[in-house]
Amino acid sequence: MMLKSISLNATTIAAISTPPGAGGIGIIRISGPESLTVLKRVFSPTSSSCSYTSHTLYHGKITLPSDGKILDEVMAVYMQSPRTYTREDVVEIHCHGSYLVLQNVLELLLTCNVHLAEPGEFTKRAFLNGRIDLTRAEAVIDILAAKTRKGVDIAQEQLDGALYRRVNAIRMALAGMLARIEVAIDFPDEDIEIIDTESFLQTLEEDVLTPITGLLECADEGRIFREGVSVVIVGRPNVGKSSLLNALLQEERALVTEIPGTTRDSIEEYLDVLGMPVRIIDTAGIRKGTDMVEELGIKRARQLINKADIVFFMVDGSAELEAADRELFATVSHKKVLILANKMDLVPDSAVVSSADFPQSIPVLPISAKEQQGIDELKHRLFAEVSGGKEQWQEEGCAPNLRHKHSLVRAKEAAQHLLTGLHAGLAADLIAVDLQGCLDQLDDIVGETTTEDVLDIIFEQFCLGK
Ligand code: GDP
Repeated sequence: MMLKSISLNATTIAAISTPPGAGGIGIIRISGPESLTVLKRVFSPTSSSCSYTSHTLYHGKITLPSDGKILDEVMAVYMQSPRTYTREDVVEIHCHGSYLVLQNVLELLLTCNVHLAEPGEFTKRAFLNGRIDLTRAEAVIDILAAKTRKGVDIAQEQLDGALYRRVNAIRMALAGMLARIEVAIDFPDEDIEIIDTESFLQTLEEDVLTPITGLLECADEGRIFREGVSVVIVGRPNVGKSSLLNALLQEERALVTEIPGTTRDSIEEYLDVLGMPVRIIDTAGIRKGTDMVEELGIKRARQLINKADIVFFMVDGSAELEAADRELFATVSHKKVLILANKMDLVPDSAVVSSADFPQSIPVLPISAKEQQGIDELKHRLFAEVSGGKEQWQEEGCAPNLRHKHSLVRAKEAAQHLLTGLHAGLAADLIAVDLQGCLDQLDDIVGETTTEDVLDIIFEQFCLGK
């Protein structure tokens, strides 16, 4: 079904838009045609001259219409359509940040022909009303979920339309080609050659295939900043695992807030490594000074190792490898491993441990957790390991998510099919089919043709009130 045919219902919705728990203020947001009428029913302005001028805050009280009982002293603002988040009439009521107060006010609103908003419904309305495309709506999810400053920056760029503009430029190129082909189909007997194959091929290569390939390369970055990476530090007792963790945490602790209702594993810490969220499993922290494998039991150790994307395998680089190092290494050798030879400050000139000590000559990175040597190199190595060889973020503001990636892959297939067809002198109507197939995929990314089912899946990821 074409998106534009999804009907917008004319209900008015409300939700508490600030997170649960006590805070300075808590905001209830209302959107829909009845917003102002509802506000007038429950709000008693302090000033008798309150005229509900759009985008103006008014002081007053929320009172029960039945008996005038005061629910809260608030600031309220009416924002007239279309200059609002949803493009509908919107009201925000700024209450005291008590969950009970907010609940009372919300319940009152729900008795005034207002429906409780579903998760993401405000943003969904913004999208359906054409204020934002689907990539921008998804950027809102990313902003809320971002764990590092870099993640927020990338999501903000996407909200600003960075991804949309790039996808749209390709759509325009395809639409132009499609228009030319349609002329050729409609006027088959014209003498002039309407399709100039050379210029068609050039447009397809330069304005379609190359930018799609570029976007696909950026999808790796999207995965990295959204999902991050989990690391476990493994090594014999006293090689310096907790020293490394502390060194990293001191500089790079990630901005992670506790989410109510979720339990956090106490042995996990979050780092922000070059903008990449890194969950580090602190095996040293569980049983300091003892052998992790012994203490936790081989099973638990295996679980931790298997859970991690990457293992930092640490040895004391100032001494010969011991049999225990080799035994422990055997438990991690099936994973992606970065070998760290620590305590290099003790042997500045000669590395005692080298890659020759390990199977397949895996590179060994000399570091000193104590003296903070080699830590930057470690971060870049980790980034490169996760990003498939890149040392830094490649592009600003362009991080297609998995949904975008799937569509881009299919768009690329259609474009390549077309390329082969053009070389083989494909008939105009078949060219049109491939062009349309490619365009459909890109339309899907920006939300032009996305089905309602897919939209539901996307907007379900939002929290209530967004
Ligand atoms: P863990 O048991 O692997 O977590 O090891 P720790 O981090 O507790 O370190 C064990 C000992 O090695 C401590 O006395 C640390 O101060 C020392 N240590 C850790 N890293 C280094 C380093 O890079 N150089 C030197 N010289 N000593 C270190």
